[in-house]
Amino acid sequence: MKSIVFIAAPAAGKGTQSEQLSKKYKLPHISTGDLLRDSANDNSELSIKIRQIMENGELISDELVTKLLVERLKKSDCKEGYILDGFPRSLEQALLYEELLGKKPNYVILLEIDKDTAMKRSVGRLSCPNCHSIFNTLLSELKPINENICDHCNTTLIKRKDDNIESFEHRYQTYLNTTLKVVDYYEKQGNLYRIDSSKSKEETIAKIYEVIDSRHYD
Ligand code: ADP
Repeated sequence: MKSIVFIAAPAAGKGTQSEQLSKKYKLPHISTGDLLRDSANDNSELSIKIRQIMENGELISDELVTKLLVERLKKSDCKEGYILDGFPRSLEQALLYEELLGKKPNYVILLEIDKDTAMKRSVGRLSCPNCHSIFNTLLSELKPINENICDHCNTTLIKRKDDNIESFEHRYQTYLNTTLKVVDYYEKQGNLYRIDSSKSKEETIAKIYEVIDSRHYD
């Protein structure tokens, strides 16, 4: 069983690295941002509220996001493990995860990046609504081959509404004020691994593989 958690500032590369890991270890990539975007896609009051909170760069309630995640983790494709991208984002979520699943994640990977690089990755980001691959118009290594088209499934790429400077600032402050407490929590327990995510995605993934392959869990 491999349960891998990514923690990082917004747009630090969690989605991109999770996709790579998912292919290598054949584990599902579960992004709570994607789960929320997929679940809030109608005109119900709850969906509209979720979309507004996300567009403003604020966090969805711990109970709602944890419930959505735990439901997803019960599916059979998670039996051998999973990669969590964007959860837990608060100490309460880390504690709820343990309470509901009766265990802690095996590997917690903190992707470290400076604020300016993360902002560039956010503002230029394009996402595939079908296969969730990430591209970036401001970074040559992540430009799609054909403008606005996903390299993997040919779907038209979209720009997320929260990928603007104001929302990024808000998400970044939330990361500093709320998510860094999760980092402290796991660091004290000894299962946190710090990885520099400011270099190319190949350099970053190589360091992540080293961490995952250096320890084994049943
Ligand atoms: P990014 O990594 O760029 O912040 P995500 O897709 O992970 O992008 O998250 C987008 C938004 O989804 C967050 O700003 C927040 O509103 C919501 N969200 C995602 N994960 C969580 C979570 N674990 N708890 C609360 N809100 C979340």
